[in-house]
Amino acid sequence: MVSEGKPERPSFSAVAERRFRLAGKSIIEKGHPYFVPVDRLEQMYSSKPEGYVSLAHYDYLGLARHPEVIAASTQAMQDYGAGAGASRLVGGERTAHRALERNLAEFLGVGDVLTLISGYLTNLSLINHLLGPRDLVLIDSLAHNSIVVGAKSGRFECRTFEHNDFDDLEEQLKAARGEFRHVLVVVEGLYSMDGDIPDLPRLIEMKKRHDAWLLVDEAHSYGVLGPNGKGICEHFGIDPSEVELSVGTLSKSFVSSGGFICANAEVIAWLRFTLPGFVYSVGLSPATTASADAAVNILRREPERVERLKQKSRLFRDSARAAGLEPGNAIGEAVVPLHFESPEQTMMVSQVLIEHGIYAPPIVQVGVPKDQPRIRFFFSAAHRDEDILRAVDVTAAAVHGELPVQIASS
Ligand code: PMP
Repeated sequence: MVSEGKPERPSFSAVAERRFRLAGKSIIEKGHPYFVPVDRLEQMYSSKPEGYVSLAHYDYLGLARHPEVIAASTQAMQDYGAGAGASRLVGGERTAHRALERNLAEFLGVGDVLTLISGYLTNLSLINHLLGPRDLVLIDSLAHNSIVVGAKSGRFECRTFEHNDFDDLEEQLKAARGEFRHVLVVVEGLYSMDGDIPDLPRLIEMKKRHDAWLLVDEAHSYGVLGPNGKGICEHFGIDPSEVELSVGTLSKSFVSSGGFICANAEVIAWLRFTLPGFVYSVGLSPATTASADAAVNILRREPERVERLKQKSRLFRDSARAAGLEPGNAIGEAVVPLHFESPEQTMMVSQVLIEHGIYAPPIVQVGVPKDQPRIRFFFSAAHRDEDILRAVDVTAAAVHGELPVQIASS
């Protein structure tokens, strides 16, 4: 009952509806290029001579349908069932969990590894767990949402420095001196919206000088950067022990799902007993553990996949630039965005690409600032050069008005 004189509260559904409207419900209702089932695209284009190509997936090393990966996860499901069944701490532990963690630690050259059920959860829980009152977290302005939400989730201070601008970071570290107990700097190994990387040697020199800790999110750089895909430390020839904490995901190069933390053995032992996102969440399922482990084994055995990925990505970036398209600061490793004049032009190009059997969805506000719409192209060692060049040709023709948008028919 509503008491006399008190305004009636709107229902939960009314509040949700209003928030959805503010988030652009009317645009979404008119039709949009998101949640396109790729299995439907596969069917639509399988009969056409040029087939269907996805430039929207994280399968950097071309392992998603590798027979060894599929066989390993099928076998694990048959042997151990569908789910881990409990938190690893209390009943969900499987021999395969530690085997995967040791495999990753050995491959990446780090002290130890801890796996969690999601990459997103890994950042959120870890950042929240590490810091407390009188601590500061300094994050790159283009950090992934899981870092932003983790950095704003606690009773510590969160500040942002300009993307890859280490003069700005230096100023902020100087300003913070003496004011905080611990300072944690968080960057990514490879930024998935821009395809660029931080100057890690400079960052390490700075964090040492300012007594700060460094956390590097290598979600997009493990399996990608460095001659063997060991990430940004290998890229710069730096010993991984120079970085206090790195996080990775099993959902990209390792074609499974889940997140992981790399640190020295003592830190991992502490997190194994205390990190809320690990302790209070279920262990990886047998199938996801086995598929990730198989992917790590293939990468260790076949580092040439990393080189092939680099060649494909650079072929796209360089051909796009030659065709008058704008890849910005992308270094040409796995992710190459192309920037367009307006959200409308970005949507139009993505639609034209779909009509030509190439799936690469547009990224517009909220994913990136309103004035920086783009299409992110993700590459794989398994892509064919002719498909990459076709994507460049179709994009350039769409931008130059040579390919009108048609209505796609299934
Ligand atoms: N960190 C970064 C930098 C990411 O790009 C992503 C997801 N794309 C994540 C963390 C979360 O990983 P996952 O999707 O495996 O949860």
